[in-house]
Amino acid sequence: MWKRVSRRAVRRCRRLEGELRFLRSCGGGLGSIVCDPKWMERRFRNRGGYLGERIDLQEVWAGCEGAGRKHGWRQETIPVDGRLSLLAWIRSQGVSGDVSRLRRVYISAGIHGDEPAGPVAAWRLMERNRWPEGLDLWVVPCLNPMGLAQNRREGPDGFDLNRDYRHLRSPEVRAHVAWLERQPDFGVSFCLHEDWEAAGFYLYELNPHGMPSVAETLLETVAQVCPLDLSPMIEGRPAQGGLIRPVVDPELRPEWPEAFWLVYRGRAMVSYTLEAPSDYPLEVRVRALVTGMEAALQAWWVRLSDMVKP
Ligand SMILES: [Zn+2]
Repeated sequence: MWKRVSRRAVRRCRRLEGELRFLRSCGGGLGSIVCDPKWMERRFRNRGGYLGERIDLQEVWAGCEGAGRKHGWRQETIPVDGRLSLLAWIRSQGVSGDVSRLRRVYISAGIHGDEPAGPVAAWRLMERNRWPEGLDLWVVPCLNPMGLAQNRREGPDGFDLNRDYRHLRSPEVRAHVAWLERQPDFGVSFCLHEDWEAAGFYLYELNPHGMPSVAETLLETVAQVCPLDLSPMIEGRPAQGGLIRPVVDPELRPEWPEAFWLVYRGRAMVSYTLEAPSDYPLEVRVRALVTGMEAALQAWWVRLSDMVKP
């Protein structure tokens, strides 16, 4: 028997269809997007968890593959025991040395399956291809494919993969770390996330070596396309202008996120974790991540050029 569908549900469905059409029509580009205030409204849709838009991971991976072919990336498969493999894309000139290390940039996304904006942003960054010329790039667009398929934060074993980088209990994180260990050290790393409870965009910086920071540039740029969370405390940590610089002793933390492994195992000099607010439309979150990343990488390249000037 047909159930009567409320007008509200029909409106919601149409809005979602419109968003997805809008996203597809943009392809990898943001250039055609007109800044419309309706996209900047907080929706308060997420209650008790993420209830927003879903994406098709195969479409994202196919998009990365196409962009990778077009722009000269090498694709690598990261096999995971008994599970779906992970995919990575690399574009590197393969030069060694200290300066070269600083040129190397690592970007990951999709470790939490209920955060679709990161994988879409990684695809879009590859498609737009606006990287500073001298950077070598490593991109892993989705670290939790099963979670993404089910719109679930955790991995297939039911625990948070982004707390597994100290003890490596899950096949996904073990495979990812084994792959990372075969890569050279990075200058800077970026982990793309979302937060369904956040009032606006915010950023973590782990910078134990006091490298020149790109945090302010990143946040100032994001503020033009997405509201920032300006709370003095975010996730229980002091914050300023959307920036959290956690003071942590990694030895005291029983569970490590990916960014900890990268920085405290000495594989990245500095790490940024970008958190887009899931209560805004997917397009706003993707745009926040993409424009923030592009600004941060330009700033990193300028700082790097200053550092190695004769
Ligand atoms: Zn996350």
